[in-house]
Amino acid sequence: MGGKKTIFLKSAADAEIIRANGQILGKCHGEVAKLLKPGVTTKYLDKIAEEFIRDNGGKPSFKGYGGFPASLCISLNDVVVHGFPNDRPLQNGDVLSIDCGVNKDGFHADSAYTYAIGDVSDEVNELLAETKRSLYRAIEQVKPGNRIGDVSFAVQNHVNDFGFGVVRELVGHGVGKSLHEGPEVPNYGKRGKGPKMVSGMVIAIEPMITLGKRFVVQESDGWTIRTEDRKPAAHFEHTVMVTDNGYEILTTFDYIEDALREKELVIA
Ligand code: MG
Ligand code: MG
Repeated sequence: MGGKKTIFLKSAADAEIIRANGQILGKCHGEVAKLLKPGVTTKYLDKIAEEFIRDNGGKPSFKGYGGFPASLCISLNDVVVHGFPNDRPLQNGDVLSIDCGVNKDGFHADSAYTYAIGDVSDEVNELLAETKRSLYRAIEQVKPGNRIGDVSFAVQNHVNDFGFGVVRELVGHGVGKSLHEGPEVPNYGKRGKGPKMVSGMVIAIEPMITLGKRFVVQESDGWTIRTEDRKPAAHFEHTVMVTDNGYEILTTFDYIEDALREKELVIA
């Protein structure tokens, strides 16, 4: 990773751009969510996402990033993050994480959601619901004067109650003109530690939570991160700004959850 990355504060004008990109990104996720069902390939989902982003005047943040080959990170079942779309059709019982970013007018927005495809076990449904809840617990800690450790602790403390694992090797990050800026936002940590949050900071908070043990390995493709014990993982992410008195979530799951409701599918 190199050294610590710089933290860049955003002006109101910068935030306006990231907010607009967050809307495009949310709608992109929503378009993809409409298509989710057994039989669909993730390569097709990736094509739809890329077309949607380009039709809206943006570029997919991930495509070409460090050589990443696609617009979506597709992480199925025991894959935690950074999986590639491929020709394998989705199957009943799959746990599918979709991560995407939009780059437009000089700024990025970044968000991720994890879906149950068809019927999954109660423990998997709980993993998804509580990982998402941990994201919102963490967001509640975002305000000037609080520290990144307060955000980190909120994730860890929430999921610990359910016996889930917290991945440590990958972390959230600042978002702006670069997809990954400072500060790092781990999903574990101590209250009152780490960089102090100030108004204008924009961070991606992204709990990566495992049903089994927290240990992960990287596949030989140099990207795909999966659980060592091959148990499923979940990943939810929002891009969030520190405001003068709290936070604003700059990305949205509204379009995703509208699509799921329409299809009468389970919402995490
Ligand atoms: Mg992401
Ligand atoms: Mg991210």
